[in-house]
Amino acid sequence: MKKALFVDRDGVLNKMVHYSHGWDSPQKPEDVQLVTGIADVISWANKRNILVIEISNQPGVAKAKMTQEIADAIESRVHELLREQNALIDATYICPHHPDAKVESLRLHCDCRKPKAGLFFKVSKDLDIYLSGSIFIGDKNTDVEAGRTAGTKTILFFHTDDEIEKIEALKTCAPDYQIVDMNESLPILRSHFT
Ligand SMILES: [Mg+2]
Ligand SMILES: [Zn+2]
Repeated sequence: MKKALFVDRDGVLNKMVHYSHGWDSPQKPEDVQLVTGIADVISWANKRNILVIEISNQPGVAKAKMTQEIADAIESRVHELLREQNALIDATYICPHHPDAKVESLRLHCDCRKPKAGLFFKVSKDLDIYLSGSIFIGDKNTDVEAGRTAGTKTILFFHTDDEIEKIEALKTCAPDYQIVDMNESLPILRSHFT
């Protein structure tokens, strides 16, 4: 079985965006900007044949905030910007659901929306990943909870580009590691994947 580096998307691969309605994930492909240092982290893993797997909740279509085409274009833009810096995501697993979705077909209490760990278990089965040897970089308490449930180690990337209550909620979680700069994850990953 293989060990993997799991990464959240919004706030970890790409920066959160400050809109007039507040902090949000990018709502258009042109609003996508990479988090400083993340491309180096991913290409470090690529060079060592460590699988890099994105695990993301993307309820924008479910909430009727965007079309599937726009959601796909945003996702592609994230991967395109990473590729330009020689950083490759090996697999992407997305939960498109939301319990209060406007789109009926996506309105459900699924087991794949973080903090549930359903996507991790699916990846583990699909790609033969050893979860307790893996590590997950996220930026929310729900990421830390999902990683803990899945049995991965967790790195919380603490940043303040988010709604105040979400930043406050970070204080209640217990990641294995906490960083404030993405470059700080490299020494952690080096000692984890020895
Ligand atoms: Mg996030
Ligand atoms: Zn789901």
